[in-house]
Amino acid sequence: MPLSMTTDRDLPMAGTGRDPRPGLSGLEPSTIVEWIVAAGEPAYRARQVADGIWGTEVGAIADLATLPVALRSRLAEDFRFDTVAETEIRVSDAGQTEKALHRLSDGALVESVLMHYPAGPGRRERHTLCISSQAGCAVGCPFCATGELGFTRDLETAEIVDQVRGAARRLAADGRRLTNVVFMGMGEPLLNLDRVLEAVAALNDPARFGLGARHITISTSGVVPGMRRLTALGPQFTLAVSLHAARDALRDVLVPLNRRWPVAEVIEAARAHAEATGRRVSYEVTMIGGVNDTDLDADAMADLLRGHLAHVNLIPMNPVAHTPWRASPMERIEAFAERLRMVGIQTTIRRNRGQEIGAACGQLAAERSAEPTATAVARRRRLLVDASVAALRGERSREPSPAGVGD
Ligand code: SAH
Ligand code: SF4
Repeated sequence: MPLSMTTDRDLPMAGTGRDPRPGLSGLEPSTIVEWIVAAGEPAYRARQVADGIWGTEVGAIADLATLPVALRSRLAEDFRFDTVAETEIRVSDAGQTEKALHRLSDGALVESVLMHYPAGPGRRERHTLCISSQAGCAVGCPFCATGELGFTRDLETAEIVDQVRGAARRLAADGRRLTNVVFMGMGEPLLNLDRVLEAVAALNDPARFGLGARHITISTSGVVPGMRRLTALGPQFTLAVSLHAARDALRDVLVPLNRRWPVAEVIEAARAHAEATGRRVSYEVTMIGGVNDTDLDADAMADLLRGHLAHVNLIPMNPVAHTPWRASPMERIEAFAERLRMVGIQTTIRRNRGQEIGAACGQLAAERSAEPTATAVARRRRLLVDASVAALRGERSREPSPAGVGD
């Protein structure tokens, strides 16, 4: 049964338009110091505010007990403590997966998913949070529920960071700590890169959230200029590339951004990243029955990645309402993996988590938005079948890249 939580009593009612007050967790520490000084307060108060933001005990500005009451009120006039305060949580997989649906101050819906992995031989327990960087997504991958929703807006820095703070608070209540953050929720992180980099800086900073860079993964559908920017930053974060297909004709259909940055350019940028950082790039492949799981596709992928510092994750597709597609059968996925392994490419088959609560990105938000008509769904399915049949024959379409992307 869904569990509703509201943690921030400072926040005005949602749905009344976007709250103009920035979230505290998205501010540079120096901005807080400047505000405190301008308020005529001693600078050490800034540390007390920071302790409240980055600790796990406090849920609202009103509860910052170290601050004078009048200062708390002034702080709450200018800032929000939690920008994802209105959160609904659904638990599945016998408590191992927790899906959170966040309603932002303007009513936009985004999701995060917390996954618990118990300790195993030689392996400590992990608690991984998958977060969103945008409400909706402009890339429009047809197998993705977020892609079908279209693009609503970029998230603010604090809206990204606060998904993490919320999960950390929930974990801390059980004496546990968040170990990994992955940008694999809604949105294309490299199309909101400035905000994503600010969020990552806050998460990584030992004086703020303090999560090691290696424990932060940024996933992209292949925004090549953004990938180059990440590489230039140095050996920081793990890069994951949503590959899905090695042949342009098919990847044009599965990841429409491919028409702007074709697969060879994406792989070249990923190879340069691996070389510059010495870190393996992961490639994600959503396995769709009869669409991208053929031997031909496995061999094309093997040719593309052979000799690269790469790790491939094969993930059975979570069914989404508007497509006729389903996950590939497990034997097919195993055969695909074997062909990659034969040429020395490390390949893992991932089991999908939280399917029954819609843990693929965007599924819960899609459920809550207006249902498309049966005719619209039928038309969309027909178009996808035609497009994938043409792609399997190797034909590239002449459609332009998605609107607003990569200009
Ligand atoms: N936009 C970025 C990050 C968010 S999507 C990207 O595409 O990389 C995160 C991952 O979820 C991607 O690898 C995407 O391909 C995968 N995904 C989306 N819909 C899915 C579905 N229905 N089943 C399985 N994986 C899916
Ligand atoms: Fe956007 Fe990623 Fe979904 Fe594609 S898979 S539509 S890039 S969120």
